[in-house]
Formats: sequence, structure tokens, C-alpha cells
Amino acid sequence: MATINRVLIQADDCKGCGFCVEACPVNVLDFADNLNVMGYRPAHYKGEGCTGCGTCFYTCPETSAITVIRNVDGLETGHCSHCNKTVKQIPDYRDSDKKICIECLNPC
Ligand code: SF4
Ligand code: SF4
Repeated sequence: MATINRVLIQADDCKGCGFCVEACPVNVLDFADNLNVMGYRPAHYKGEGCTGCGTCFYTCPETSAITVIRNVDGLETGHCSHCNKTVKQIPDYRDSDKKICIECLNPC
């Protein structure tokens, strides 16, 4: 099975600087059509083609705007109370008893 990687962007933490868009070596980032709560046009993942290289993460000046997830298919599945559906989850490094939903990035 092919490894599926994914980049998650917290739109409201993004200042729309475009560093990640410029830096992505496979050009899978662009800008959203809408503005975020700060009035910036946030970066947006095109939906496929992420290699999981992490360049965008290391380029971004905002510590919480980008999360790169490698091998999505290998993640555990669980129920997200925010999305109210079954989702893939990553460990919450702040609380080992919790997981984080990769759809909404909230603890669940
Ligand atoms: S992890 Fe690499 S390939 Fe994926 S969006 Fe970021 S820079 Fe692009
Ligand atoms: S580098 Fe960070 S702040 Fe700049 S556009 Fe990308 S996600 Fe937003």
C-alpha cells in the first residue's frame, strides 16, 4: 500500500506570508479562497501529492500553523467528538491519554 502523507494547516494561525507555498518542492500548497479570522488568505493544501518532507513546517514562522503527518493510513482510528465521526488520530504530546483528530486538529 502506498504511503499517504498529508499537511494540515490551521487557517486561523496562518499569516498568509506564503513562505510554505514557495518552499514546497512539489508545489502542493496554494492559498485558500477565503480569509481567516485575522483577515489573511491562509495557505491551503491542494489535497494530494505531499511527500511528507517537512519543508513547509520548518519554513513557517508560526509555530502552530502547520502539521505534517506521514503515513496517514498507518494512524489509529477513533471517534472525534468535534467532527462527530470516525477519523484518523495522532497522539497528543501534551496529554498522553488523548489523541488529536487530523480533520479538525482538536483533542478527542
Ligand atoms: S511536507 Fe513537503 S511536500 Fe508536503 S506540503 Fe510540506 S513542503 Fe510540500
Ligand atoms: S509559512 Fe506559515 S504563516 Fe506563512 S503562509 Fe505558510 S502556513 Fe501561513
